[in-house]
Amino acid sequence: MHSRDAVFLEDLCPKLRDRRWRKSIHEFTGKRCIYCGKNSESIDHVLPRSKGGLSITENCVPACLSCNGSKTDHDAFEWYRKQRFYDPRRSMAIKAWIEGDIRLALRLIKWAQPHQNKNLPKSKSVFNEDYSWQAA
Ligand SMILES: [Zn+2]
Repeated sequence: MHSRDAVFLEDLCPKLRDRRWRKSIHEFTGKRCIYCGKNSESIDHVLPRSKGGLSITENCVPACLSCNGSKTDHDAFEWYRKQRFYDPRRSMAIKAWIEGDIRLALRLIKWAQPHQNKNLPKSKSVFNEDYSWQAA
């Protein structure tokens, strides 16, 4: 019964906190899917929960329903490489994200889609102001 570990956040926190956390994940990317850049409507576990992936920021990325549904339990990087919208910069961004370097991840995403970053958050993230965007 290792699956208990996977839901520790839900167990630990009230629903409100979980909702806020989910919202903050979407706000990082300006509500864009980290894989394809469309509207993010869900949270994807990079390492699937079925394989022991935790519900923590480092393992949870904003994803559209299409990507989330298509990826299911596949390895994120293997699955992503096969997609038509594959972008190596996004792949690097996901890698940075799961290593906890959200700031680098956001830079890489911005690089991948320079014209879609108008909606990025200023400094309302749950972490610190370090993640806010500076105009280049
Ligand atoms: Zn997507």
